[in-house]
Amino acid sequence: MSGSFSEDHMAPDWRDQASCVGEDPEIFFPLSDSASPGDEAFLARTICRRCSVLLACRSWAIEHGEDDGIWGATTAAQRRKIRRARLSREKWPDR
Ligand code: SF4
Repeated sequence: MSGSFSEDHMAPDWRDQASCVGEDPEIFFPLSDSASPGDEAFLARTICRRCSVLLACRSWAIEHGEDDGIWGATTAAQRRKIRRARLSREKWPDR
């Protein structure tokens, strides 16, 4: 997602490059939260896939526990799954 939520307003920020600037925010907050996103998330994910800061956005959302909406072409359910996998790898690196 975009907006002016830079912590340091003088520093360049990945959000300044966000492709979702000016898009309807409701596109990025579909009602369903599925690990297999369907039509509701299609438009948002299409915009994300063309976004030059997709990976920075996705990483931010995962690291900050963003639990709502489409960020970096992922749903909240997908990000939770990624977070769990990361935690599992940290806890049991030899598995
Ligand atoms: S990846 Fe998607 S949600 Fe993230 S900044 Fe780009 S367009 Fe917005």
